[in-house]
Amino acid sequence: MTTEIPSKKETITIVGAGPVGALLAVILGRAGYQVNLIESRRDCRKHSIYQGKSINIALSDRGWLALESVGIANQIKANAIPMKKRVIHAIDGSLTEQAYGKAGQAIWSVPRSGINEQLLDLADAEKTVSINFEQRLIQVNFDNACSTLAQDQSVYEVHANYLFGADGAFSKVRRLAQETPRFSYNQSYMPQCYIELTMSAHDNSSTKDRYRIEKEALHIWPRNDFMLIAMPNLDGTFTCTLFLNLESKDNNEASFNSLNTSEEVTTFFNKNFSDAMSLLDNPIEDFMQKSANPLFLVSVEPWVINNKVALIGDAAHAMVPFYGQGMNCGFEDCRELAILINDHKGDWPKIFTDYQKNRKINADAITELSKQNFIEMSELSGDAIFLLQKKIEAKFHELYPELWTPLYSMVSFSPHLPYEKALSIGNQQNIIMKKLMTDLMQVPNIENCWNQNFVYQKMHKLVLAHPLAVNNV
Ligand SMILES: Cc1cc2nc3c(=O)[nH]c(=O)nc-3n(C[C@H](O)[C@H](O)[C@H](O)COP(=O)(O)OP(=O)(O)OC[C@H]3O[C@@H](n4cnc5c(N)ncnc54)[C@H](O)[C@@H]3O)c2cc1C
Repeated sequence: MTTEIPSKKETITIVGAGPVGALLAVILGRAGYQVNLIESRRDCRKHSIYQGKSINIALSDRGWLALESVGIANQIKANAIPMKKRVIHAIDGSLTEQAYGKAGQAIWSVPRSGINEQLLDLADAEKTVSINFEQRLIQVNFDNACSTLAQDQSVYEVHANYLFGADGAFSKVRRLAQETPRFSYNQSYMPQCYIELTMSAHDNSSTKDRYRIEKEALHIWPRNDFMLIAMPNLDGTFTCTLFLNLESKDNNEASFNSLNTSEEVTTFFNKNFSDAMSLLDNPIEDFMQKSANPLFLVSVEPWVINNKVALIGDAAHAMVPFYGQGMNCGFEDCRELAILINDHKGDWPKIFTDYQKNRKINADAITELSKQNFIEMSELSGDAIFLLQKKIEAKFHELYPELWTPLYSMVSFSPHLPYEKALSIGNQQNIIMKKLMTDLMQVPNIENCWNQNFVYQKMHKLVLAHPLAVNNV
């Protein structure tokens, strides 16, 4: 993408050199702005800073489109693993599979540290970008975008024309913005928390055989109120995440707070994840030692204050990770901002107005979809009727691609379709599928005849009766 270089050299401070801040620095630097990228942590290219935070991340087409726009997608893909399907591990150890999309479509497991480092290298290569590590933002003047930074014992001010808060889910810029007039803020915690577990590689030398479970898949052990997932890494290991309620709703339900002894934890794992027990490295010890990380959603309004300071990425829209879209959405924020800078020829009041108008509605939609997807992943992906429904949807999509794209594909593989549109089409599709499945459940032996014409004729009729379910992807 080419952006017009503005005639005036305005300066922009970006707070936070995570993946979103680093990508934004590349975009703004290339558009001709003088960019000061500020990061409180040490340079992740020289120091390991990612321990304890999910070490891989799922990237889908929205993320790739943004990375392509700055010319780094292929470089990042070189270190990524395609996950073409979900592999579902039932409680008895049996496996079923669900393709994520059509042949050739996949979500990709990429190392979190790698993507951040590669984006920082790209930002560093821009003459207009200066990156400053180990400097913590402590104050913002929302009238003039002046920021106060702390480094070691000293405190100093940085003046700029504009400031972006790309400082993540716990954003300081956002917390300070709460003191400005008419700033709405909503944060809600999910009942689930998470810990990370690991699955090591086989020791033998052949790369293919190093993976203990199928490499090119996202593995799920769905158990209704909780689930375990595993994503592959290049070195043959898997990063696993256990999502479990913090508190039990009743005495029989397992939760982080109800499992207190090694015996209780061992019984819980043996009962629920027996096929994973020989694969995981020390799950019981890890469970006992690690503290459960909270999951929360943040929604704020406005995203832009005084046409001087704006929020982007997790700072603007922290969501739960069940759709694997948090970073993808942050990258999309950056890509769309680049388009607005170009379209409005650097007129920031216009850029900010459209940025907030276009992005807020879409971030709200994917935040809602992410919340809903926990239910799909933890309950439904292990349910026979749900699996049948997915097969029917996939076949209908094959037969009538102009009428139906499954919601997962709209979110993950249709990067030009706004999230908000995907949510509203998805709601209509739900109505149709509920009706269809209620009818089909009356058909004897439907699990063996779901492939037959009558199913798709019925569905075709229903779809035509619900024009709002039809997408034009
Ligand atoms: C368990 C889990 C799994 C996830 N899986 C996925 C996934 O599969 N796919 C996906 O797309 N997303 C996923 N996400 C979401 C993803 O991690 C975030 O959306 C993404 O990291 C947001 O990037 P960011 O740059 O906005 O924020 P961050 O990555 O949080 O970066 C913010 C940066 O700002 C810096 N900073 C903070 N405060 C200050 C300050 N005061 N001064 C200076 N610097 C500061 C921080 O040090 C940090 O480097 C997941 C999240 C979790 C928790």
